[in-house]
Amino acid sequence: MNGLNEIGVPTHFIRRLNMREQLIRSVEIIPLEVIVRNRAAGSLSKRLGIPEGKVLPRPLVEFCYKDDALGDPLVTEEHIATFGWASQQDLDDMVSLALRVNDFLAGVFLAVGIRLVDFKIEIGRVWDGEYQRLIVADEISPDSCRLWDIETGRKLDKDVFRHDLGNLADAYTELARRLGVLPANTTPVTKPTLIN
Ligand code: UDP
Repeated sequence: MNGLNEIGVPTHFIRRLNMREQLIRSVEIIPLEVIVRNRAAGSLSKRLGIPEGKVLPRPLVEFCYKDDALGDPLVTEEHIATFGWASQQDLDDMVSLALRVNDFLAGVFLAVGIRLVDFKIEIGRVWDGEYQRLIVADEISPDSCRLWDIETGRKLDKDVFRHDLGNLADAYTELARRLGVLPANTTPVTKPTLIN
């Protein structure tokens, strides 16, 4: 989020308070999940039968309606306009934000040998006086991105847990180490541990 703010992509993040808490801007969340895909995987592969890992000719932006009971269904711009979840201007801004986040994150991960396959962000509305603007909100993490090691193809995201591909803590620790979030000699925390 800090990096995005630095390059002029507005986010809700203000500052980190400690290891577990952040100060963020309060937003009016848009009830859509914005997904960007660089390669086919997950629900796209299932829905359209595209082999996992196939490079897409251009980044694909999809919207899902945020409703757990309905399983966050994929929706079109027509649904979004019809039900008034976002205006046409909002949609244009959301696509543009999502593509900028994609370019930035893809570069960050490429620099540490990781391929950004896809990710999900959420976007919120903030008001500056009478003017509204859209900013990136919620989280960006290995729970919301697909991240594959470029050399080996090893998965470093929540698919490790979902498809029983090994120890999730090992994968997340490896990712955090590569990104410099954790010191290089950190050992994975495999059991819940109280941090004082
Ligand atoms: N994603 C997410 N939350 C959701 C749905 C999807 O963070 O509620 C992320 C997911 O981790 C992946 C991307 O969005 O990085 C695309 O997910 P997909 O539609 O393939 O669904 P999946 O099969 O992962 O549930």
